[in-house]
Amino acid sequence: MAVATEREYGLFINGAAVEPASGEIRELTEPATGDPLARAAMAGPADVDRAVEAARAALGGPWGKTPPNERSRLLQALADAIQTNRKELAELEARNVGKAISSVKAELAQSIENYRFYASAIASIAGRSNPVGGSLLFYSLKEPVGVAGQIVPWNYPLMMATWKLAPALAAGCTVVLKPDPATPLTALRIAELAADAGFPEGVINVVPGDGPSTGAHLVRHSDVDKVAFTGSTQTGGEIMRLCAETVKRVSLELGGKSPSIVFADANLADAIPSSVWSIYYSAGQSCEARSRVLVERSAYDDFVSQFAQHAQSLRVGDPLDAETQMGSLVSATHRDKVHAFVETGRGEGAEVVTGGEPDNGRGAFYPPTVLANVDNRMVVAQEEIFGPVVTVIPFEDEKDAIRIANDTKYGLFATVWTGDPARGHRLASRIKAGQIGINTPYTAFPGIPFGGYKQSGFGRELGLETLDLYLETKSVLVSTSPKPFNPFGL
Ligand code: NAD
Repeated sequence: MAVATEREYGLFINGAAVEPASGEIRELTEPATGDPLARAAMAGPADVDRAVEAARAALGGPWGKTPPNERSRLLQALADAIQTNRKELAELEARNVGKAISSVKAELAQSIENYRFYASAIASIAGRSNPVGGSLLFYSLKEPVGVAGQIVPWNYPLMMATWKLAPALAAGCTVVLKPDPATPLTALRIAELAADAGFPEGVINVVPGDGPSTGAHLVRHSDVDKVAFTGSTQTGGEIMRLCAETVKRVSLELGGKSPSIVFADANLADAIPSSVWSIYYSAGQSCEARSRVLVERSAYDDFVSQFAQHAQSLRVGDPLDAETQMGSLVSATHRDKVHAFVETGRGEGAEVVTGGEPDNGRGAFYPPTVLANVDNRMVVAQEEIFGPVVTVIPFEDEKDAIRIANDTKYGLFATVWTGDPARGHRLASRIKAGQIGINTPYTAFPGIPFGGYKQSGFGRELGLETLDLYLETKSVLVSTSPKPFNPFGL
């Protein structure tokens, strides 16, 4: 089924698509072609207020009384609805973001599994009881934290919405989700599908809008209990400051400059194409993109030339073509930002082995680019470029590899390629990152905690521990003594 283009999308508040009080409707275009895609309503502060009010009312209404097994059933029903509508959702996401549809399909499959994982994980929400001594009984209760304000970026709009929604709903919270204003369409469709699947009104509200106005208003709102944010480290810091005003719970998934570390004893036939995938998947617009490839000096020259050949062979083009491996970037503005980084790299003395010039056609395309002879202290090795640009950096030995890997303000992911299993584990324990891959490029799976060390943020998503971000623990003490308690002897 072809997606109805130029459909108008309202905000999703209290179980229905509604007109924005802001009156703002934005024209969205496809980044890969520049063609019109849809018209989408943008929320302003008054719309956020309305959404938070609906979310608060739902907590005090039927949703607050929905038992865990019913919440689990609803999450499964939403997973089924996404599965049924996957073709429409995949096309919508590919058009909105410019991303290759083959990648979107993988993200959709993971998203469906994520709802199913949290549908099962509900069974793990439990308090505990342990002996206190004397005549006291103690037990704890797990309660939903309340209304969750969730803010997601443009690079994986559907999957990021899923990572946020599934654990919050499993925990019994209600949600006001703010997608990026450029990429709100699949989150809005998911809210519609959730309503059709039976989620009560007000449980899921979606309010696309600009960050510093709409997003900041949501974060500061006194009736929002918890904020979950995915985006840049700079904005994450600002969100933390805003949360401090009302001592709000906050979790942050931020940027990265993650390394692939390739030792000369690695199976290069696996390490090279996997490292290519690790940076060019989603055109490098991934927080966990392995944008620094550290290669042992003795294998460096051969690695760079083989890596560049693979990069050149990638099929870049129409996001809707099933054969495409890399689509466009999210916008022409972003493409220009990426190119400016490459120019900075040239100025710093990096060698552009392949790519490095923007495609001047209609779409926001940028070629897979390889920067060699990079020093880890260069801007291109320290700053998140968030595009299809890799920096390849030589290292001398294991100690040097660990030093360079950790020489960054970020700590999201690291992949180690080695033929020596013990070395893989040694590096896993010494690299300061939330996730380590040993001889595998893969990163995110439902059930496996995902999140950052250092300025890549804190709090883990995708895992059982994520539920705790959306739960309060209440301790209850009960006297079992037949005698009155009279400590002052009154
Ligand atoms: P961004 O920080 O500019 O925007 C992210 C979201 O925050 C958007 O919805 C935006 O509208 C909103 N926002 C911006 N300013 C705000 C403010 N002052 N108050 C409230 N909301 C505000 O990030 P981006 O450039 O759009 O996204 C890319 C970033 O996201 C990259 O740094 C990437 O690494 C990161 N990311 C991290 C993960 C992870 O799991 N760690 C996953 C995906 C993306």
